[in-house]
Amino acid sequence: MTGVSDERAENSSDNVSDNCSEHDSSDCSCHCSCHGSEHDSEHNHECDSEHAEYVSDFREELVAALKETGFSCGMCGECCRMNTTDSNLIIMSASEVREIMAATGLSWDEVAEPYPDLLEEDGVSYTFDWCIRRNPEGTRSCVFQGADNRCTIYEHRPWICRTYPLMLADSVSEDGCTVTNLLKSECLCYGNKITDDEAKAQAEDLIARKINEDREFMKIKSVYGKISLQKIKENGIKKCVIDSEGVKEIV
Ligand code: SF4
Ligand code: SF4
Repeated sequence: MTGVSDERAENSSDNVSDNCSEHDSSDCSCHCSCHGSEHDSEHNHECDSEHAEYVSDFREELVAALKETGFSCGMCGECCRMNTTDSNLIIMSASEVREIMAATGLSWDEVAEPYPDLLEEDGVSYTFDWCIRRNPEGTRSCVFQGADNRCTIYEHRPWICRTYPLMLADSVSEDGCTVTNLLKSECLCYGNKITDDEAKAQAEDLIARKINEDREFMKIKSVYGKISLQKIKENGIKKCVIDSEGVKEIV
């Protein structure tokens, strides 16, 4: 299943933290091996403090990595335009689409377009993702990019735009531990001097984005688990987006 992630070019990554598989770096819930009634208050306390220490270490390592990365947006606007094929696909959750609709008064289709690479199964073409709507001609820039390169929906822009060119992504190491990486996409504005507060703000945004993406992924997975592509086809739908709200036909 396609996750909700940044589809723009990823150039390099830094390992931020090797995480014990008992911990989920993206969500503040300690996944220890005993559950429910097996948890006595002393164990809970140990578990909570171990987890708090882990989260604190992770934040510190991330802030240090961000300071070293030194990203500071030069506002060239290149990431909002299509420079190479589909380089500016900005994936959005259904709730992000709705936030922009509420802020702008635009319709769903004016805000979002389906992710262009559709999967095929049981006679139905489908995707799990919406992208921000792009102009049909020219550089196929995002419809919300202003003439001065500025974002016209800045306060309501999706998480990917808030955190670009950076993102956090998990991978599993050979010994089965979850490794959280700081990925860096294409951008000319690395290597700047940034303050501790700026690095901390970037870290909080990246963590918030990852929590949102992981939750969205689980919601879409749950919807997908309940639908039948066969039934969708019987209802005359040949193309659709399966998102966290349900099935939306592509017309
Ligand atoms: S993130 Fe990078 S590519 Fe995008 S506008 Fe800022 S400097 Fe330009
Ligand atoms: S929403 Fe704003 S920041 Fe995001 S691609 Fe469009 S113009 Fe750029």
